[in-house]
Amino acid sequence: MYSGTWTTEAKKYFSKTNCVAYNLASDYLNGSPIRQDYLHTVLTWISDAEGIALEDYMAKHQHDTSANDLWMYFQNVINWVKTVFPNYRKYMKGLPWGIYYNRHKDEHYNSDELEARVAELEMDDDVTNNKGIYAYLLTGEEKHLNIRTFNEKDKLRKYNEQEGVCAKCGNHFAYTDMDGDHILPWSKGGKTEYDNLQMLCISCNRSNL
Ligand SMILES: [Zn+2]
Repeated sequence: MYSGTWTTEAKKYFSKTNCVAYNLASDYLNGSPIRQDYLHTVLTWISDAEGIALEDYMAKHQHDTSANDLWMYFQNVINWVKTVFPNYRKYMKGLPWGIYYNRHKDEHYNSDELEARVAELEMDDDVTNNKGIYAYLLTGEEKHLNIRTFNEKDKLRKYNEQEGVCAKCGNHFAYTDMDGDHILPWSKGGKTEYDNLQMLCISCNRSNL
């Protein structure tokens, strides 16, 4: 897949055992340099930065005599991660850091505040996807955290308690046409606990999001 002068140069940085990319960033990347995983990853990131397909990036640069740009870009990504999130955690490995960098490199983050938020979120029982904490903090999108949902037993108990009536629109529904909803949303401190559960019909639950 990868051949030519520029590729040979790029491989010096990204494709040898103990290459500079490995020494800089093995804690942050999945795979191995010799299987071209590192080269593939950085190419995915940099082509995203330029808004073009990976193949087009390759075609554009195949006659370059050095791969310095690629190497500098990679260092910028890794230095950005290490600056914004200086406290390393194992689940940082393999995240699409270059994509995060492309989207958020110009934003101003306070690393101490972010670290406090990471520590808080990883202790939160309702956060079931710790790997998503970083994307959540960068984007504010709750979906990255896979917030715990209510279990069937609690939902059924609440359904019976409400006698099948939607807590919002007041109409009656079958159990399968309803879903569990956080009365106080997770983002406002509400937990996935029985006292914070109400059954809503599917359409009210959607409009509640
Ligand atoms: Zn309803």
